[in-house]
Amino acid sequence: MNEKSEIIRVEKLNKYFGDLHVLKDIDMTVMKSEVVVLIGASGSGKSTILRCLNFLERKDSGTITLEGEIIEPKTQNLNRVRERVGMVFQHFNLFPHKTVLGNVIEAPIKVKKIQKDQAIRDGIELLKKVGLSDKINVYPSKLSGGQKQRVAIARALAMKPDVMLFDEPTSALDPELVGEVLATMKQLAEEGMTMVVVTHEMGFAREVGNIILYLHDGKIIERGNPKEIFESPREERTREFLSKVL
Ligand code: ADP
Ligand code: MG
Repeated sequence: MNEKSEIIRVEKLNKYFGDLHVLKDIDMTVMKSEVVVLIGASGSGKSTILRCLNFLERKDSGTITLEGEIIEPKTQNLNRVRERVGMVFQHFNLFPHKTVLGNVIEAPIKVKKIQKDQAIRDGIELLKKVGLSDKINVYPSKLSGGQKQRVAIARALAMKPDVMLFDEPTSALDPELVGEVLATMKQLAEEGMTMVVVTHEMGFAREVGNIILYLHDGKIIERGNPKEIFESPREERTREFLSKVL
């Protein structure tokens, strides 16, 4: 796959919850190794976009294309598709009865049918990468929130996804633990991982993001590179939002 290939393309995506029109004609593309950051007020539809990209929510209309292939939930094996799209949530949802390494190797063994010794080798490598080599045999209850979230990141990476989705990965953390998770994400980005990140961490958005999408009431009303969005937003509503969060 060449450097400029398209990983995700979303066209005219619409989503309703009952009568509530939550996503309105969303168009977005994510190129290989790009970090796309979604910002916007609470309730604007950020999580719903990510959940549609991972097919945890069913879109009502529009198309989602993954690496050139249009994904139709009715006809495709969504578990296969989800292996290609890793997701990290605000709440880490680790298996409490499994060790850190146990959490990381579970899906590769059960879902991908990777040999256990191979999964263990890969898992140890990933835990090293997120700075948790010394926690391999520890249970999640013994970890800080920042460490749990780094395990969650390693667990998602263990499936070798083509793109990683992050939904406010630091919002549930104590302030002093936010930095270590953002640093892990930054490192991933520098290694070329394709990422879609929902965050209120504007420093991260500015420093690591390639494209910023500003979502307002279910619509992307402004998009641009960090310099454009943070230094000279065109839309009054973007300026208003940024004045509250910066
Ligand atoms: P954000 O992540 O930007 O805070 P969400 O995508 O979670 O926003 O939500 C967008 C809108 O959709 C909100 O009005 C929210 O209340 C509504 N919503 C989200 N999930 C559901 C659901 N499962 N059922 C009904 N309404 C929902
Ligand atoms: Mg959300």
